[in-house]
Amino acid sequence: MCYAIPGKVVGLKKNIATVDYFGEQRTVLNEFQEIEIGDYVYAQGGVLINRIAKKEAKEILDFWKDKFFELKKIDRKLSDVENIDASPCLLEILQKINLKKRLTEDELQSLIMLKDKEELKLLYETANNIRQKEHDNACCVHGIIEFSNYCKNNCFYCGIRKDKDIKRYRMKVDDIINTAKKAVSEHGFKALVLQSGEDDYYDETKLMKIVTEIRKLNVLIFLSIGQRSEEVYKRLFETGARAVLLRFETSNEDMFSKLRPGTSLKERIQLIKDLKEMGYILATGFIIGLPGETNKDTINNILLTRSLGADMYSFGPLIPTAGTPLADHPKQLKDSILKIISITRFVDRQSKILVTTALETLNKDAKREGLSAGANSLMINITPKNCAELYSIYDNKAGMTENINRTIKDTVELLYSIGRAPTDLGI
Ligand code: SAH
Repeated sequence: MCYAIPGKVVGLKKNIATVDYFGEQRTVLNEFQEIEIGDYVYAQGGVLINRIAKKEAKEILDFWKDKFFELKKIDRKLSDVENIDASPCLLEILQKINLKKRLTEDELQSLIMLKDKEELKLLYETANNIRQKEHDNACCVHGIIEFSNYCKNNCFYCGIRKDKDIKRYRMKVDDIINTAKKAVSEHGFKALVLQSGEDDYYDETKLMKIVTEIRKLNVLIFLSIGQRSEEVYKRLFETGARAVLLRFETSNEDMFSKLRPGTSLKERIQLIKDLKEMGYILATGFIIGLPGETNKDTINNILLTRSLGADMYSFGPLIPTAGTPLADHPKQLKDSILKIISITRFVDRQSKILVTTALETLNKDAKREGLSAGANSLMINITPKNCAELYSIYDNKAGMTENINRTIKDTVELLYSIGRAPTDLGI
């Protein structure tokens, strides 16, 4: 199974390589490999992660040769915008979007308030069209390993909050490494997210061992371990981690301090800025539908994600979860999330936008719908089943009952059906 297409190095200037994919060229950063012009390589998120033998590359490219263009054709066809009637106000905003003009906050608010089915369809199609123009049909497919559900925090929304009485688990360092090895050798993942509650049991030494060993597998390592000191993150970068997933959760300071007792929005945002500064690929974002949230907050959340320089937007609906203080909070509607995906695509045309598990949890068809409303990234849960079941950040988490092979097969089939290539052709 292959999640990234190998490319051929056609140019090399210091540590910037130009990589060719069937005639399309991308530049990527090379920090890890000894390479020469003519070598075949894999890149993820704009980082060259691995060099592979010519014979192996040619075999894979043989498979991809026709598929590559066939998928693009399907995607192009599905990304057309149908001509339909809409209010003059919406048409004017869409025209501005097509001219690549920045929308005002009022205009963004009016998009959030859209309700008419036909207008929503037009909104999603326009966002999908921009996604296709900016990114073509590439779709990141990362694997996520949830390695501990211990957490020292008590976030009101979260099902693994400290005070919740649940069965806790911690994967052994070797088991985490072995799960990663299997993800790479058996399933072909090129990027792995390591996620946990904020669990200090995994100190710098343990985290460094995990990163060192997984880095040897030539994959892009995403850390999603919550707030650690700048020093720890620096060390982990030096050890080979290259990406972080750390949401600021909400840009509203009052809401943040109510919902995350004992933690501070300022500190979390400062850390996110520091991580970006250190050179990490940044995935960040927010939860949609927290108590007290207004449309203005949601717009602020999108704009803050952009101003932090997010390479990938990660946001999803609040899933009210039994045994948490927000258990009885109303559920979000699928369209309210799809709207935010589309609006985000207008606000940041270049970004990667993730369809999160929380959205999939709301609706079975959400993966396809999210990808057709402007999103272009997915994650597949590869946590061993006995642990995944206990990583209950919210109720009825999607992707839990199927086995991993089945989920991968279904995801790839879904991507092919809408003309997407599960690959990462760089930034
Ligand atoms: N400890 C890490 C990872 C947290 S879990 C960290 O602090 O970054 C990953 C994300 O799940 C959180 O950032 C939060 O946005 C989301 N999440 C937690 N509970 C949720 C719920 N009930 N509904 C929706 N999203 C939730």
